[in-house]
Amino acid sequence: MEDSPVFTQSRMYEISARLLQFGRFAFLSVLPATALLFWFPRDGRYVHPPAWWGPLFLTIIGAWMAAIFASVLIAAFMKCDRCRRRPTIVLNLKHLPRGTSEWQAIRDFFFPSEMRLKAFECAHCGARFQLSR
Ligand SMILES: [Zn+2]
Repeated sequence: MEDSPVFTQSRMYEISARLLQFGRFAFLSVLPATALLFWFPRDGRYVHPPAWWGPLFLTIIGAWMAAIFASVLIAAFMKCDRCRRRPTIVLNLKHLPRGTSEWQAIRDFFFPSEMRLKAFECAHCGARFQLSR
């Protein structure tokens, strides 16, 4: 892996990956924000959240949507140095590599292994690249 070439668009890859990571955390925080509704005063079947809840909820949803959208947008401009296709965008679902536990899959969802290893593999041609530091 040490001899794999440095990806020419490392910076873009990193920004895209960070945005995706942020978006996933924003998505996760939709749940506690929604759970708050259970503690707010209720009038029959209707919940009356305090005034700050609406903007908070919309901010989280907005941050989630914006981060994922920006991440995909940036990813669309990346090109694999070898096959010239978009290295992170695949239309078919990737199967979990053999030997990956569910916990590892969840961990990788929030803390992508590509960012820990500073390397990634093109989803199309399998070429390995390092990310410049
Ligand atoms: Zn490729």
